[in-house]
Amino acid sequence: MSPSVFRVLVVDDKSTNRRALENTLAEINVEVVSVDSGRSALKQVLKHSFSVILMDVDMPDMDGFETAEIIASYQLEKVIPIIFITAKDLPIDKSQWQVEGTVDYLVKPYNPESLLAKIRVFIIMDRQQQQVTQALKTANQIKERSELLVESAGQGLVVIDNQFKVTFMNKMACTLLTTNKEDLVGLSIKPFIHPDAKEDWFQSPIYCALNEGQNVQVDDALFANSHHYALSVEYTLAVIYADGKADGAVLLFQDITERKIAQEKLAFYAQHDQLTGVYNRRMFRTLLEESLAFAKRYKSSIALHYIDLDQFKIINDGFGHDAGDAVLKESVTRIERTVRDVDMVARLGGDEFCIIQRIDDDSEFSAASLAQRLIEAFQRDFYIEGHVHKIGCSIGIAQFPAHADTVTGLIKAADTAMYNVKEGGRNSYCFFNHQFRKQLDEHMGIVAELKTALVNKELYLVYQPQIDTSSNSLIGVEALMRWKNPRLGQIAPDVFIPIAEKTGLINAMGKWCLEEAVSQAKEWSRKYNLAVPVSVNISVHQIMSEHFVTHIETLLSDFEVVPNLLKLEMTETVLMGDPEHCIAQLAKLDSLGIKTSIDDFGTGYSSLTYLGVIPATCLKIDKSFITQIDQNVRNQNIVDSIIGLAKSIKLSVIAEGVEGLNELNFLVEHGCSNIQGYYFSKPLSVHDMSEYIAKREKAPVILYEHPLMDVRNYSGKTSLQ
Ligand code: C2E
Ligand code: MG
Ligand code: MG
Repeated sequence: MSPSVFRVLVVDDKSTNRRALENTLAEINVEVVSVDSGRSALKQVLKHSFSVILMDVDMPDMDGFETAEIIASYQLEKVIPIIFITAKDLPIDKSQWQVEGTVDYLVKPYNPESLLAKIRVFIIMDRQQQQVTQALKTANQIKERSELLVESAGQGLVVIDNQFKVTFMNKMACTLLTTNKEDLVGLSIKPFIHPDAKEDWFQSPIYCALNEGQNVQVDDALFANSHHYALSVEYTLAVIYADGKADGAVLLFQDITERKIAQEKLAFYAQHDQLTGVYNRRMFRTLLEESLAFAKRYKSSIALHYIDLDQFKIINDGFGHDAGDAVLKESVTRIERTVRDVDMVARLGGDEFCIIQRIDDDSEFSAASLAQRLIEAFQRDFYIEGHVHKIGCSIGIAQFPAHADTVTGLIKAADTAMYNVKEGGRNSYCFFNHQFRKQLDEHMGIVAELKTALVNKELYLVYQPQIDTSSNSLIGVEALMRWKNPRLGQIAPDVFIPIAEKTGLINAMGKWCLEEAVSQAKEWSRKYNLAVPVSVNISVHQIMSEHFVTHIETLLSDFEVVPNLLKLEMTETVLMGDPEHCIAQLAKLDSLGIKTSIDDFGTGYSSLTYLGVIPATCLKIDKSFITQIDQNVRNQNIVDSIIGLAKSIKLSVIAEGVEGLNELNFLVEHGCSNIQGYYFSKPLSVHDMSEYIAKREKAPVILYEHPLMDVRNYSGKTSLQ
């Protein structure tokens, strides 16, 4: 509270009188306000609070008495004492001057000391008055506040006596306990402690607190309402003392049902996957730790099944996340129907699930039979948003103690086994074996080295000639990527290209390959004045990129290369992954004048509908059909059909992997004159390919029926394979 200011109002029409009073009052610590008329005095009392008024009686316009009367009529917060100062004795008729608040008068000339003494008394009285007013104000506020608290703070308040009988309860307490004051006052609080509460009545905090005279606070308790329904509450019990003894208590309680539901939800989702409701990754680890400890102690076994859905990505990307979510939920339903109650199911994220299966013996039988049933469960069609999907799953299994004896070891082993299933064609299961780990470690070693292969200039291109046997001319070369790492040595593209694709490294590598190939094509065309189109293999990542066509366009203009020096090869599988997108991309490339071949044709699942409209220019028959074709009638029929198909849809055709003369003869006889293969040349280094071109320049016409020894010897000698 700010220190009080004590003010004295001096009212006198004569300035000399006012000044004399001001001088006298300067002796004491008061604030003096001087005015020269009754009217001004009225204004002042309305504005400020005064401890006392020194009022001249004799004033023109409105005299002192009149002014005092009006002030009294104002009904101010407090009565202001007035000391009249007059030159003559006051009238005999006291009613004339004894207005309310008038308490004294002084006759001029007055004694300043007696004036000050009077004023001091009034100031003391004023101070006391102020203190009382303030105390009253505070008391009222407290009263109002506590009434507010008692009735409307959302807390139930029950007052009990020392026999636990209710003497008072507020509205909220009645609402929460579904009762009313009249029914409960005078009765024991005991029935409102729920029978399921942690302690019985004599151990209950309420009973003990009052008995021991100790206040108590309980965060989570169970009360019962009048219908015997449980009510979760938190409460405080404050003991009331009388004559030094606990005489009762005030119980303040609050319904915490909603908070408890929220807490339970939080606790649930801290352990469970939000989408499917099975355990989450964190809880899975805890459960696996516990299961492992249990198995170690009781010498039993655990099988950990690591499940990955096979076609999830296609559905999630192609049909949207809602469809993806529906697949995950349906997957959990199928898993839960297949496992036993004691098995634990968790979602590790994405489309990966784990099952902890407790088994009694060391054999693989139980785990294998569960995995088999899971595979079958996933083989049934998924009906999602009006579409039928085939999903399938790959399961890797690791067992304790056979494969690993730690949580991390088991997870790693099951994951490795699952990875092995994926590699081996999916939709199956397999148990971990130590050979997988070796492979995986190798894989990880390759990834680490491949990351720096480009900057370390470990990648290079080799070129394999493509010959038109009808004219025996070089119609182009295929650029093939090679990687030689100082630690790992030469790594086959069949090994590092899939890894580059999985890790996304293929984007940068593919970009580099295109630049390298285009600049080489330019170099050859400049050096030999000959168009040697270079075919570059394009991965799925590249063709799916929005910027791919622009990149090709920029590349051609940056290197100032004509479009027919560059050809692109995309496998049938890549094109059929998203045929509509690829058709659009190929159409744009076609409009730039870039030709495209469908590589490894016959190994994928081309849809004839799309094949007819794909703006590709060439079918490249996969080498698997060519190898020893003269001894394989089935492959002969396939190749014959492919050649016929290419012709019917007006595509040119080329065969790759041609090694022997018999193969060559078969192809040429069946209408495929464009050949790539060891028969003519293995892939060559830039230097050797340059010499190859130069040599052919000098002796261009070599018919295919001839042994072609010069070419083959030449290529064999310089091969980089
Ligand atoms: P591909 O595109 O089908 O390449 C043809 C593969 O057949 C090459 O294997 C080539 O060396 C091999 N080959 C050619 N003639 C014969 C033959 O007469 N007999 C045998 N047995 N093989 C022959 P390579 O170089 O090992 O490449 C393997 C695959 O790696 C390629 O298959 C291609 O899919 C991929 N690849 C190579 N370079 C690149 C690249 O720069 N980018 C991308 N995305 N993939 C590439
Ligand atoms: Mg190719
Ligand atoms: Mg191929």
